[in-house]
Amino acid sequence: MLVVMKNGATEAQVQAVLDEIQKMGYRGVSMPGAQRTAICIIGNQQPINDVTLLALEGVKETIPVTKSYKLVSRETHLEPSIISIGDLKIGTGEPVIMAGPCAVESEEQAMIIAMFVKRCGLKIYRGGAFKPRTSPYSFQGLGIKGLKILDKVRKETGLLIVTEATDTENLEVVEEYTDIIQIGARNMQNYSLLRLAGHASKPVLLKRGFAATIDEWLMAAEYIISEGNSRVILCERGIRTFSDDTRHTLDLAAIPAIKELSHLPIIVDPSHAAGRRDFVIPLAKGAIAAGADGLIIEVHHDPTHALSDGAQSLFPRQLEELIKDIAHLK
Ligand code: PEP
Ligand code: MN
Repeated sequence: MLVVMKNGATEAQVQAVLDEIQKMGYRGVSMPGAQRTAICIIGNQQPINDVTLLALEGVKETIPVTKSYKLVSRETHLEPSIISIGDLKIGTGEPVIMAGPCAVESEEQAMIIAMFVKRCGLKIYRGGAFKPRTSPYSFQGLGIKGLKILDKVRKETGLLIVTEATDTENLEVVEEYTDIIQIGARNMQNYSLLRLAGHASKPVLLKRGFAATIDEWLMAAEYIISEGNSRVILCERGIRTFSDDTRHTLDLAAIPAIKELSHLPIIVDPSHAAGRRDFVIPLAKGAIAAGADGLIIEVHHDPTHALSDGAQSLFPRQLEELIKDIAHLK
């Protein structure tokens, strides 16, 4: 349930509602809006009796929330959320492109690609230090050494960093070194990791699990936000279907679906969906045309020798091409 406060309700009136909700055995989350504050009640299994709430001063009305996810729902937050990271804003309608290698392989490799990403005018650099690989024999990432390289990249280029936390043990160190914490497709329903990310001070890029429905994905985001971290960016990265000409099937319909159901920004990763570089640009264009708030793209100066995902990594000139193509679509 949502308790909508009157225009101009005081802080004390909002607090009185929060206290009453607590007395009822639930938790209230205050969501200040442009016009008025709404308070979302979470933790109830049954419909709530709103008589005492409606009697409180400053309360305009109560609205039942029909979805099982609440804090991520558009029902509780009408305006789209804009996630600010320093001067950069995600979710404004201006697509934000993040790019970099699948994995940090060495300082030299990370820096060559970062300099290129910066020359392209992009602001966010991706690169995995902890890599969730399908095979235990594949390159697993440089771990903390990789995070330190990313830190150096940030200091020398001014680029913001997005990198993945693969478990509850490395989340805190990832949080320390990164600007955006990525939670990967394989971990979308790792609830202890989601809860911990809910206590982090950095925004979270939450990828869609490759067999997750939109509702399950939004529920995963709800785990993070219900712990207190409201800065969540969703990322569609392809789902598993019977179609086998690409690694996964990019679900473009997820973009308008998320926009309808949630206020959270959604970006698209065409690289992991395609699994092949020749499809990355067309899929990226489709995503932007469908209303995505941004893209995350794998690029490598020498993809043939990349230690992971070389086949889907763009050549640098292709990233330039993609940026130009996207500019025409805006
Ligand atoms: C990645 O971005 O490096 C990655 C492993 O992506 P996903 O979790 O979508 O497979
Ligand atoms: Mn990859």
